[in-house]
Amino acid sequence: MAGPLGGPPQGGGNAPRTIVCDTSVLLAGGDPRSTAEDAVYITPGVVGEVRRDEERERLETLRATGLAVRAPAAGPLTAVEQAARATGDHERLSAADKELVALALELGAELLTDDRSMQNVARHLGVPYRGFAQAEIQGLWHWQSRWRCTGCGKVYGKEPPRRECAICGHAVVKKHWRVPRGEAAGP
Ligand SMILES: [Zn+2]
Repeated sequence: MAGPLGGPPQGGGNAPRTIVCDTSVLLAGGDPRSTAEDAVYITPGVVGEVRRDEERERLETLRATGLAVRAPAAGPLTAVEQAARATGDHERLSAADKELVALALELGAELLTDDRSMQNVARHLGVPYRGFAQAEIQGLWHWQSRWRCTGCGKVYGKEPPRRECAICGHAVVKKHWRVPRGEAAGP
């Protein structure tokens, strides 16, 4: 079934959106922001689930470019627990999954996830949601970054010791830029 079953996404057009984003979206390298004004949130539980270096790096890049981490309040978490029991999805949801739905409920945000159980619970609570894999999602970006010396311009594949250039000793800083999905990379 296609379409935002939990209700229409807020805003539409170019209005800034508030989005709570499932882990898989971020680890796929995606960023659901379509404008700089869009606010994207994840939860501490999601951060805790990220283990691989490459994934940590991706998360760090997203945080450096504005991704916010916020824990839901107790009330919304309880509401999600109750809804998950009511829909029978309780056993299929991790603590991090429940946090994400609860934060979307708390912030009045749109939940971005392909997880059916999370979608079920969101619908039960009247939280608007969309699937990441759905073609309707606009403005999906991924970030690229690199370390570059502010002196000689040498590019480093990863953070150099003390963030110092091995050639000239100037500071090496991380630059981020984003490219639409499927397009060629470039600063
Ligand atoms: Zn240098």
